[in-house]
Amino acid sequence: MTATSISLYLHIPFCKHRCAYCDFNTYTSLLDLREAYAEGLVTELAQVAAETRRPAHTIFFGGGTPSVMSPVALGRILDGVRANFALAADAEVTMEANPGTVDLDYLTAVRQAGINRLSFGVQSVIPSELALLEREHDFATVVEAAQMARQVGFDNFNLDLIYGVPGQTLKSWEHSLRAVLDLAPAHLSLYCLTIEPGTPMQRWLQNGRIQPPDPDLAADQYELACALLAKHGYDHYEISNWAKPGLACEHNLTYWRNGDYLGLGAGAHGHAAGVRYQIVKQPRVYLRRLEETSALRYPLSTAVAASHSVSRAEAISDTMMTQLRLLNEGLDLAAFEAKFGRSVAEIYDGTLEQMIDWKLVTVANGRLRLTQQGWFLSNQVFYRFMLDDT
Ligand code: SF4
Repeated sequence: MTATSISLYLHIPFCKHRCAYCDFNTYTSLLDLREAYAEGLVTELAQVAAETRRPAHTIFFGGGTPSVMSPVALGRILDGVRANFALAADAEVTMEANPGTVDLDYLTAVRQAGINRLSFGVQSVIPSELALLEREHDFATVVEAAQMARQVGFDNFNLDLIYGVPGQTLKSWEHSLRAVLDLAPAHLSLYCLTIEPGTPMQRWLQNGRIQPPDPDLAADQYELACALLAKHGYDHYEISNWAKPGLACEHNLTYWRNGDYLGLGAGAHGHAAGVRYQIVKQPRVYLRRLEETSALRYPLSTAVAASHSVSRAEAISDTMMTQLRLLNEGLDLAAFEAKFGRSVAEIYDGTLEQMIDWKLVTVANGRLRLTQQGWFLSNQVFYRFMLDDT
């Protein structure tokens, strides 16, 4: 990877069914648009690439459910990437997949198209928890999907699980963890459920069908996961992510190192060349906007809904919040000072000492890191490291 190499996030905004907790930009009634949408992504790739073939080292198909796209459509998009970017020979190319949407032929074909890493949304192995989340698969489907993935050469796959689910217990969580550990994934992402406004789950909370998640139980679940995964040889390299040695997700490392990435597709976010931006959310509007011809300015395509130049205060806050997420790596204090002309201690005079006194962060070997106590309270820490522009 060169210093100027970037990452590409490609959003696929289609699902066959909407889950009860989901507030992602995804649509269940627009599956007919899939082929046109793939062409749209190819157009957008050409727009943002402009005249230079920039080096790229990771691609991430996220969603939505990228695995509702045909292998031909995914291959077409990847050809669009190769035509417009200098894709590294060893680039990490990830696709999120729902276990119930793949079979052996499909996995073989997407592998041949160039995808070399999968991320399966498992969420739980307990039928009642899957039913509450309105996930359509069962755990037997996950086991089968993992076996098929291995069979066609996907040794590097991630499994997602969710804790803090109403009705979940410490015991049922441990059961889910142990069941996915039996599948020996290269990578695990564990997320605490947040009940988002406008979702069915929020309505259920309001009308008493479910009880609010218990934060103390969620903290115990997190602690249990940390201990169990350490015992199984997983490196806890980011607050919510664990990997076998050497198999951290390169794409997400770009985000956590506050690096440059292009976000393409409806509703995607991007951050490159000192600009943050968001693409229009509605897939039909997205496709229409790509037909427009107007002067292009990297990294923006004609489908951009909003963009702004990153201010110094924002760049500093972003650096703190993203790099502290990396538990081993942390934030390089000398690199920070070289970049911003002032040290972390000078900029956060008082706050830094307070965070150290509260044992939420620590300084060692020139790096600032969250302490184990700070892992679960990271949002409190990040809040205090946010600067405003005034
Ligand atoms: S599969 Fe994922 S993106 Fe699709 S509705 Fe469910 S949670 Fe949302």
